[in-house]
Amino acid sequence: MVEINIENNNEEKSEKVTQDFVRTIIAEDLASNKHDGRVVTRFPPEPNGYLHIGHAKAFCLNFAVAKENSGQCNLRFDDTNPSKEETEYVEAIQEDIKWMGWDWGENLFYASDYFQKMYEYAIDLVKKGKAYVCDLSAEQTREYRGTLTEPGKNSPYRDRSIEENLDLFKKMHDGEFDEGACVLRAKIDMTSGNMNMRDPIMYRIIKIPHHRQGDKWCIYPTYDWAHGLEDSIEGITHSLCSLEFAEHRPLYDWYLDELDVYHPRQYEFARLNINYTVLSKRNLRSLVEKNIVQGWDDPRMPTISGLRRRGYTPEAIRTFIEQIGVAKTQSTVDVSMLEHFLRQDLNDRCPRVLCVLDPLKIVIDNYPEDKVDILQAQNHPKDPDMGTREVPFTRELYIERSDFMEVAPNKKFKRLVIGREIRLRYAYFITCNEAIKNEAGEIVELRCTYDPETRGGSAPDGRKVKGTIHWVSAEKGIPAEIRLYDRLFKEESPEAGNRDFMECVNENSCEILQGCICEPGLKNAPAESRFQFERQGYFVVDRMDSTPENLVFNRTITLRDTWAKIQKKMT
Ligand code: ATP
Ligand code: MG
Repeated sequence: MVEINIENNNEEKSEKVTQDFVRTIIAEDLASNKHDGRVVTRFPPEPNGYLHIGHAKAFCLNFAVAKENSGQCNLRFDDTNPSKEETEYVEAIQEDIKWMGWDWGENLFYASDYFQKMYEYAIDLVKKGKAYVCDLSAEQTREYRGTLTEPGKNSPYRDRSIEENLDLFKKMHDGEFDEGACVLRAKIDMTSGNMNMRDPIMYRIIKIPHHRQGDKWCIYPTYDWAHGLEDSIEGITHSLCSLEFAEHRPLYDWYLDELDVYHPRQYEFARLNINYTVLSKRNLRSLVEKNIVQGWDDPRMPTISGLRRRGYTPEAIRTFIEQIGVAKTQSTVDVSMLEHFLRQDLNDRCPRVLCVLDPLKIVIDNYPEDKVDILQAQNHPKDPDMGTREVPFTRELYIERSDFMEVAPNKKFKRLVIGREIRLRYAYFITCNEAIKNEAGEIVELRCTYDPETRGGSAPDGRKVKGTIHWVSAEKGIPAEIRLYDRLFKEESPEAGNRDFMECVNENSCEILQGCICEPGLKNAPAESRFQFERQGYFVVDRMDSTPENLVFNRTITLRDTWAKIQKKMT
């Protein structure tokens, strides 16, 4: 195996990956000049839903191998089934691929643009005696097809004459038959051990308008018939698809051989599966339709648009995909690995800010009422180039409610308790003297004092404090809504076995906090800007709902990296 260095936007982070079998095949084909040095791949989504991270594995592979070899990758909409397809999906798919950093240039195609050509190819097969019109009902067709252990039976319509087939197929095309009345089938072998080769259907009658073709067509090609032709027409060299199509490859080859047209080669790689996640479009659609989530771009969805809204970066997703690699056997990836690459990327790029999610007011009794002290705060602990910013300090502040206890519950609790001195991040040492309670006995305010000598967070006499907590000026801070997201599924394999994946939905996967307070500098943070709220996690300005008047942040991820821990234990 050859080791190559995958380019990374951050050079220091670039990690070695092992060359996968797809890249090996392409390198060999280039060496033997198999396609005159051409590498042409394609990503063929069906526009019947939004793209998810599994699709990202497929399109990153196709775009990357094309780019690495100065080749071309086509974006081809496989829009051959009018009943489920919509323009909304066509647009969303393009936006998502672009956001992920890929560019198909001029090479945007629609399978539906080849309908006429495919129809003519079908007539060629009929003329060769290799396709026939079959009038069996769907149920009869199933019966005749046999099973994995029993051969199928020939359809009684199999031996229609070429003239009759040509005539009937034209009538199908002209709309003279009702839906379901008949189909066009390839004449291959009803006893084949491969069920896909038992006279597969090439065309069925569907009287639904097409999103691009209108009602021009009432016969639509099946996936198997269409796909190889699309690849052939576009001059694809390496047709990369997921493992479940391996069984279809003999049919892919049969069609192209019988037609004697340009013949790309199909290669299969393993689909991406991730635990605690569903990656089938059908199931994702039902989460949307049943309002379990708020749309395809809900920040809990594994769709590209959902991950984007959640605060994922394209770089983190791409690094994850590079690191899992391309293999020929199925496996399931731990979601904490995806989260690990996300944290790694966010850790490098996110400025640190202060935000209090659950505010508790504190008053510094020995601090002048009108005074505003402007303190300097570092934007990144390891990256001085990210500079500093100003944060205002005032007599009344908010701290996190969980950062105070009247009495320390145990030795680990290093935060504020009555009588203890701690540090306010970037600011001063403070001591809490009293907790004010309401009639219900709840703490509503703390009375504290500060040491003016400790400005910037250290004492001239060298004394130390155990804890440092975050805070925001009550007077200058700005309110924000913060949405805390958790995994959408509480079971590791929601799609396993016979159970309904809906039963595994985590009902507490979204918690909305109102009245959080963040430092004033965030007021004009643009949509999609990302921050680390110190001690809380990584957050992004929601691209749909946030405005300067009503800031909305989504929590992208907490700080604790479980995958890194697992790795450490294993090594
Ligand atoms: P689903 O099964 O979720 O409906 P699909 O395969 O029907 O997905 P398409 O729009 O046909 O969706 O997929 C376009 C391409 O993406 C195909 O080549 C398919 O093999 C690939 N793909 C889909 N899901 C995954 C996945 N989980 N991992 C890798 N590739 C995938
Ligand atoms: Mg598909």
